[in-house]
Amino acid sequence: MPAAVRSRTDACPGVFAPHDAADGALARIRLPGGVIGATALRLVADCAEDLGDGRVHLTSRGNLQLRGLSRSGALAARLGGAGLLPSATHERVRNVLASPLAGIACGATDPPPRVSTVGPAADDPPFGTSTVEQAALHVPTGRSPDVRAMAATLDRGLCARPPLADLPGRFLFALDDGRGDVAAEDPDLCWQAPDRLLVAGVDNGLRVAEAQAVAALLHAAEAFLALRAADGGTAWRAAELVDAPARIAAALGRSLQEGHLHAATPQQGGSPATAQPAAARPGPVRRDDGGLALVVAPLLGELTADQVRLLATAGPAAVVTPWRTIVLPAPRVPAAGLAAAGLLVEPGPAADISACAGRPGCAKALADVRADALAALSRLPGGRVHVSGCARRCGAPRAAHVDAVALAGGRYLVDGVPRPGLVP
Ligand code: SF4
Repeated sequence: MPAAVRSRTDACPGVFAPHDAADGALARIRLPGGVIGATALRLVADCAEDLGDGRVHLTSRGNLQLRGLSRSGALAARLGGAGLLPSATHERVRNVLASPLAGIACGATDPPPRVSTVGPAADDPPFGTSTVEQAALHVPTGRSPDVRAMAATLDRGLCARPPLADLPGRFLFALDDGRGDVAAEDPDLCWQAPDRLLVAGVDNGLRVAEAQAVAALLHAAEAFLALRAADGGTAWRAAELVDAPARIAAALGRSLQEGHLHAATPQQGGSPATAQPAAARPGPVRRDDGGLALVVAPLLGELTADQVRLLATAGPAAVVTPWRTIVLPAPRVPAAGLAAAGLLVEPGPAADISACAGRPGCAKALADVRADALAALSRLPGGRVHVSGCARRCGAPRAAHVDAVALAGGRYLVDGVPRPGLVP
């Protein structure tokens, strides 16, 4: 889409600039790299209960969202006081994905362990004894780059550059440890180990070493803004600029001459997408150090405040993924305890279904899609299903899925076929 098609700047919500939805203000809490500590989880749970609708929603970019808020400064004051809002000017541009299992489990394809084995174990390494959350999430195996730490560095670099506050709220960075999971999430700029720099998913032959990856991404973001200004447009995404991959690569030429980057033969096909990343489905994951991590999923990506507090007891930090799951690197709470609280701890139809906000939260919705999805749960065909209240299809997964869109009068368009309801 050429930049000229955009007639306005994007209005992605943040905490300082919430979106006015039909059920009240909606605020998005950015979590670069998906990391959130236990103390912050408790605070978010309290804020949801005290200021919102009592729920915490996971987003398709690994962030948290609160709904049903009143327009006051109370949320910003509470989150800011806890360090969750390091920059008022750059809040909406802190959109950084990192491979959620980086430093925890390499991309090995061992058979998944049984869920009944997950819980505190006597021989489990003393995971998370560090007071530093980043350290708590890293098992130093030497097998993959610590993209989560790189995400934190990128976040600081973003916030330290005043011009980058002008990035669109939809502009997305990704740091992929080589397994291709977050590279497949349609980032505008992505560094993928060992050395690929992708622009709008396109490999233009740019190669950058791990040590220079963050600097290269920041340069590329500045180049996007410069090109957008030169075009006189209001593009929200790199792909909306004409010939963005080649032009951004050319703009990085100065760094190339300085030896930070080097050119290689472009590889076809951009980033290889894994069919379903391990962190996208609930269940145990064998850690590189021999212990067990656990991926949990809330039904329809929505957590109660009590579920969030329970997750806060499971370890010093957790990783929110762009697939509406949460990685617990070394759960201190048995999987059975999490399941008893209503969290999904193993794959199944309930983990395969997602839905947008729908009625009554969204004024555009033609149906209460979340209620319809839950009612249809036992009768849906296997595989991923996303239910949308209108043709915008908010939050639809990138992976292949059955596409159900509400029509007027309780009808649905399912993979393009009109039906009297969500299920026959
Ligand atoms: S898909 Fe439509 S109904 Fe659903 S949240 Fe988006 S705009 Fe609202």
